[in-house]
Amino acid sequence: MSGIRMPGRSLVALAASLAAFTAWGATIEILNTDSPGVGFNDKTAVAPVGGNEGSTLGEQRMNVYKKVASVWGKQLPAGPVIQISANWPALDCNASQAVLGQAGAVTSWHDFPNAPKTGTWYPAALANTLAQVDLDDGAKPEISSSFNVNLGKANCLEGTPWYLGLDGNAPAGSIDFAVVLTHEVGHGLGFATPTNGSTGLQPRDTDGTRYPTVWESMMFDNTAGKTWLEMSAAERRASAINPRGLVWTGANVVADMPSVLKKGTPMLTVKSKQFPDVAGVYQVGPAAFGPPLSSTVLKGGMARVIDQADGVIGLACDPLSSANAALVAGRVALLDRGTCNFSVKVKNAQDAGAIGVIVVNNVAGGPPTGLPGSDDTVVIPSVMITQADGATLKTALTGNVLATDKITAVLGIDKTRYAGADAAGRVMLFTPNPFQGGSSVSHWDTSATRNLLMEPAINDDLPTFKVSAPKDLTLELLKDIGW
Ligand SMILES: [Zn+2]
Repeated sequence: MSGIRMPGRSLVALAASLAAFTAWGATIEILNTDSPGVGFNDKTAVAPVGGNEGSTLGEQRMNVYKKVASVWGKQLPAGPVIQISANWPALDCNASQAVLGQAGAVTSWHDFPNAPKTGTWYPAALANTLAQVDLDDGAKPEISSSFNVNLGKANCLEGTPWYLGLDGNAPAGSIDFAVVLTHEVGHGLGFATPTNGSTGLQPRDTDGTRYPTVWESMMFDNTAGKTWLEMSAAERRASAINPRGLVWTGANVVADMPSVLKKGTPMLTVKSKQFPDVAGVYQVGPAAFGPPLSSTVLKGGMARVIDQADGVIGLACDPLSSANAALVAGRVALLDRGTCNFSVKVKNAQDAGAIGVIVVNNVAGGPPTGLPGSDDTVVIPSVMITQADGATLKTALTGNVLATDKITAVLGIDKTRYAGADAAGRVMLFTPNPFQGGSSVSHWDTSATRNLLMEPAINDDLPTFKVSAPKDLTLELLKDIGW
């Protein structure tokens, strides 16, 4: 996870420096801004871990940062030194979740020497590199970064500490600092748009003029059929909460995507001649239990689980009544989220003869999350759909038509489509509804498979120190914006 700091902004008009850069390898300098005894200055003695020979906690933290700075530096063209301020404050956390770190460009620049596009904001490190001069003459660092000093302690994901090794062998239950750092430095280098997704407003210069960011021409909304550059603020606001509807069109990401993501997008296809209004393809969140959708294509009529004798509507938390069992037998059961675990519902439907289950979310928004849980005795596939999509299906399955074979549900994967990309092969940005401050828009969608470094939450299967194809797409996006 990360918070993304809004950059400060400055208008610049410096003498042009036209030296073309051909040299490779950026220099990234870490500015330790911790107080004595804190964070990078913590003198607590520690044993070496995973190739990190630092003898104090602070030293080990800095060793990881130096390694990540060197990994990133090798990927980038040479230019003025990129300074990153770094410290270890107490970031937001509680018993069950934590902000691990946050980072962002400290300033953004437009219309600087060698700027590829006029009237367009670029993050400081990129602007300096394109201009081949430090645009604020070293007044401010280009990137600021902070990491959660309390992680693993009481009320801050207790028992889930940082792993400070350099070998990518973080034990289960720990969080690999190298991976989080690589993610956060990615934000600082420009994997973030400062355009405000919750207002749709572009960043303003000191004279009040608003300019687009370098991201916007490559952010395409499949529903609106427009890029963010072509949209009004209201349209951008809507696009930022259009689940799986906003994609990245930059050429480097598009070119390398097929070597990174896997084919096979889970989906529900509903077919019906009698009820054409419900026919279509629906987004699903697959279950963590039961057979994976990739192993099976399931096709069947649909049935809605209705009121039980106890007055509970469609929850399937108890064994199904004989009336419900008669409806769902041999069909795909449609039932509601709530009250009991997903695996309990699916098992009850299975016991009543259902061949698959569609769980309808009980809160608005999207995209549909998956169904967590485990039960080895579940042998039928199940998925979650959004509340809105559930309402559409329920409308058809009402009155006397609680179950019908004239509405067919097909659960499986679209083998032609990459997981995390749209039908045209463009990777989806993270645009859940409701908006998630600090996460929305400036990350990849969580449906990406393999998992990507720049998803909003750090997955524990990410490789360390990998930022480009075939393992990742962070560097490709940075190239798209001008690196
Ligand atoms: Zn992030």
